[in-house]
Amino acid sequence: MPGKRSLKLYEEARQLFPGGVNSPVRAAVKPYPFYVERGEGPYIFTVDGEKLIDYVLAYGPLILGHRHPRVKAAVEEQLEKGWLYGAPYEPEIELAKKILWYYMPGGMIRFVNSGTEATMLAIRLARGYTRRKYIVKFEGCYHGAHDYVLVGAGSAAAEYGIPASEGVPEEVARLTLIAKYNDIDTVEKIMKKHGDQVAAIIVEPVVGNAGLILPRDGFLRELRRIADEHGALLIFDEVITGFRLGLRGAQEYFGVKADIVTLGKIVGGGFPVGAVAARREIMEMVTPVGKVFNAGTFNAHPVTMIAGLETIRVLEETNPYPAMREAAKRIADTLLDAAGRNGFDVTVNHIESMVQVFFKPGGVWSYDDAKQSNRKLYDKLHEILLRKGVFIPPSQMETWFLSAVHTREVIDDTLSAIEDAFRELRG
Ligand code: PLP
Repeated sequence: MPGKRSLKLYEEARQLFPGGVNSPVRAAVKPYPFYVERGEGPYIFTVDGEKLIDYVLAYGPLILGHRHPRVKAAVEEQLEKGWLYGAPYEPEIELAKKILWYYMPGGMIRFVNSGTEATMLAIRLARGYTRRKYIVKFEGCYHGAHDYVLVGAGSAAAEYGIPASEGVPEEVARLTLIAKYNDIDTVEKIMKKHGDQVAAIIVEPVVGNAGLILPRDGFLRELRRIADEHGALLIFDEVITGFRLGLRGAQEYFGVKADIVTLGKIVGGGFPVGAVAARREIMEMVTPVGKVFNAGTFNAHPVTMIAGLETIRVLEETNPYPAMREAAKRIADTLLDAAGRNGFDVTVNHIESMVQVFFKPGGVWSYDDAKQSNRKLYDKLHEILLRKGVFIPPSQMETWFLSAVHTREVIDDTLSAIEDAFRELRG
């Protein structure tokens, strides 16, 4: 439960930042956001002296937990050499080779500074390559905070009920055609009408921004087929799933190849990052070779490159994926059992190290399903768990993340808190 010091800071912040925060979901923590003193392993320590088990993990990047010693050492070593050059730097080659090996063998990559920038470039690139103007995106999928994709968006846009952001001109919004996730008919219908003008279908292969929604068997394969049939590109937005579903992300997990993959979060080891990887002939359209413009003062930031490289090395050397999968399953099972025993009919979705619970029976396969969850109960669960020292996402429209340092003991503590929380929720 956030304390007096957090309240004082939040009151000050509300005079300075809209809603007191610099990214909307941070304001969803009730009754008010806690302020962080520091992070260590699976824990966040607050300025109010509380220790919280962290299942938000900065919304995905911290797959090794907070302040991992190897990432910290690598970053410290980098700082000794300076931190920004505006000129090429060898580690960007190493990180590029690693990512391409896993995500786009034989392809090319451009590093940018956020997932937002990555999807913006990917879409511009698809439009430049195909010389077409429309894109197809899915309701509840979130691809960042830029104009092309702020229609039917998930994450904070869904949390705050914003179907299309104000400030995006209608002429721009009209170029984004909205289909329903896991509903191929809606895609077919759009493509029948506009297929020869669609540059790309962009999708979160696993939706992590409308709660957690998994693709139905064959859904992603069908997207591949439809894109090919109409000469459109398929963009997998792997900003969340990249290096989280496994080293090779969603393409490998579901056996479907994309034309363009966007990455972010884990790839920067906790520092700001985005990346676009695509086949060579597509990527060669980007400046300075081609005429699809991209540039950035901070692109391929040396500290980010080093932190990302070290994070991936640790993932490769230690293979924490089976243990994280098992831990997430224990949490999912307990959520389901504890809810059931206390009279709540819930759906729990989980895959690898991601979990989310919906207060809705009968499965969650779409944004419409996710919206039917009883949000009041989710918010209450969040509030109770926070009081018990467990920080889960403050919004139903986000996903719980686990890290490699959420040990068995940490998970056991979490399971007890979940049991207690559902008893308290029943009242
Ligand atoms: N794409 C997906 C799938 C995301 O989950 C996010 C952020 O949560 C983004 C893109 C945007 O990334 P960023 O917040 O780094 O701009």
